[in-house]
Amino acid sequence: MAKFIFITGGVVSALGKGIASASIGALLEGRGFKVTLQKLDPYINVDPGTLSPFQHGEVFVTDDGAETDLDLGHYERFTSFTALQKNNFTTGRIYYNVLNKERRGDYLGDTVQVIPHITDEIKKIIRSVADGYDVVLVEIGGTIGDIESLPFLEAIRQMRYDMGPENVIYAHLTLVPYIHASEELKTKPTQHSVRELRAIGIQPDILLCRTEIPFGADTKKKIALHCNVETDAVIMAPDVETIYEVPLVYQKEGLDDQIIKKLRMETRKPLMDDWRELVNRLKNPQDSVSIALVGKYVGLKDSYKSLYEALVHGGIANHAGVDVQWVDAEDIEKNGPERFLMEVDGVLVPGGFGNRGSEGKISAIKYAREKRIPFFGICLGMQLAVVEFMRNVCGMKGANSTEFDADTDYPVIYLMGRWYDFRKGTVQERSAGSDKGGTMRLGAYPCNLASGSIALEMYGKNSIFERHRHRFEFNNAFRKIITAKGLSISGLSPDGELVEIVEVLDHPWFLGCQFHPEFKSRPRNPHPLFEGFIKAALRSKNALLARSES
Ligand code: GLN
Repeated sequence: MAKFIFITGGVVSALGKGIASASIGALLEGRGFKVTLQKLDPYINVDPGTLSPFQHGEVFVTDDGAETDLDLGHYERFTSFTALQKNNFTTGRIYYNVLNKERRGDYLGDTVQVIPHITDEIKKIIRSVADGYDVVLVEIGGTIGDIESLPFLEAIRQMRYDMGPENVIYAHLTLVPYIHASEELKTKPTQHSVRELRAIGIQPDILLCRTEIPFGADTKKKIALHCNVETDAVIMAPDVETIYEVPLVYQKEGLDDQIIKKLRMETRKPLMDDWRELVNRLKNPQDSVSIALVGKYVGLKDSYKSLYEALVHGGIANHAGVDVQWVDAEDIEKNGPERFLMEVDGVLVPGGFGNRGSEGKISAIKYAREKRIPFFGICLGMQLAVVEFMRNVCGMKGANSTEFDADTDYPVIYLMGRWYDFRKGTVQERSAGSDKGGTMRLGAYPCNLASGSIALEMYGKNSIFERHRHRFEFNNAFRKIITAKGLSISGLSPDGELVEIVEVLDHPWFLGCQFHPEFKSRPRNPHPLFEGFIKAALRSKNALLARSES
């Protein structure tokens, strides 16, 4: 039977509960356990798909086509876990399930209430992920004290009551702030936050204390005494240079031993060499590259979380540090691409929705193509690379995606009326009028790679699966002309209908893909396209340097 660890957060938000949960996952995998993770989010939206990336950060897409919280990305990157829809639930989705049952008459006339109906539903969805695993890690979104998270806390309180303390433990992430004026660490906020948890019946077993300044045994003892937690279970979590160091820091603090002891598990000695090697590479890069990320949501870096991490992973694979320059596409519209892109070694145009900044992205792509700077276009970035090529190489003035110009003479990217959906095994129909969410191509789709392509060279295999999240597709009516002019189509769906990858042949490295490779990149297994892109950027930088020195 699986054991459960519930992770809550207190004092303030943004302490990195997702990374803490993912790091516990990494530690437990290092001790030989099979681990799965789940995130419970207190907001009412049924899924994060409709939340603005400006507010909520990236939407992480799973193989089964779920639009989930970005923390699931951390879970995948830190462990061998692969997320599915059932690994992320919001309050909205839970109420939705309960209300559907009520309408169906499943409650046989009962008054439907938060306790027991909502809490039972929560317990059911928590248990639904446990099969086949040793440990289930469940992260509760929000901060202790929020009204919204109360039903989740009540449900997890009951789980310890139902299953016993050797099967359920609670880890609470808090902050121990350092007051610069008096040069003191303060434990009071942690005490208050734990008191609040205890008021609803949850006594944490482990405290993960975020701190700017490392602290010693005295502070630990004080926190332990006031919070009714064992001193050894007060884990100091100081700020670190890279997030991938967190599992190692936890291990040094004995967190894995504490968990194993409290859950009464048998285990092997820890194996963390791969993490040490990875952190070593991150901290001691042999070279560096600068990559411009030309996007729309550059103000909130969390909007491009997986993308940023995938670039870092590409750097790890090449023993190089990656310096990401965040460029707002609208600034390129106003001032031209030169001043933003003149000194970078690679240009990346990521996914996105809506017209804002699209012309700026197209100028960036033109600049990268003409100046022979390695270019990587992802989803919208690939679509705009096609538009740019049509306009400026094939001479089709005004070519566009119908997302941005419904009346263009050259609708090179458009809504495909009918197509075969390989993931669902059905034919899909869509039109400009069809409902927003329902018509997206979401989740993992197969793609076959053309021989002689950069893509095949990078992946080293013919057939791949990558995750999608988009509505528009390449318009096959333009295939002949574009390939005749030098943009090769190097990735296609198995029926040959959906264009998945394009490459400019006469260029050091120019690749656009309709899918989001960043979702599948992991630090211990960097994605081949990111590895290839960073390698190309390094090559181009070093060639330029060599030229300027000679
Ligand atoms: N807006 C484009 C589409 O819907 C691209 C989406 C994306 O980049 N994820 O097809």
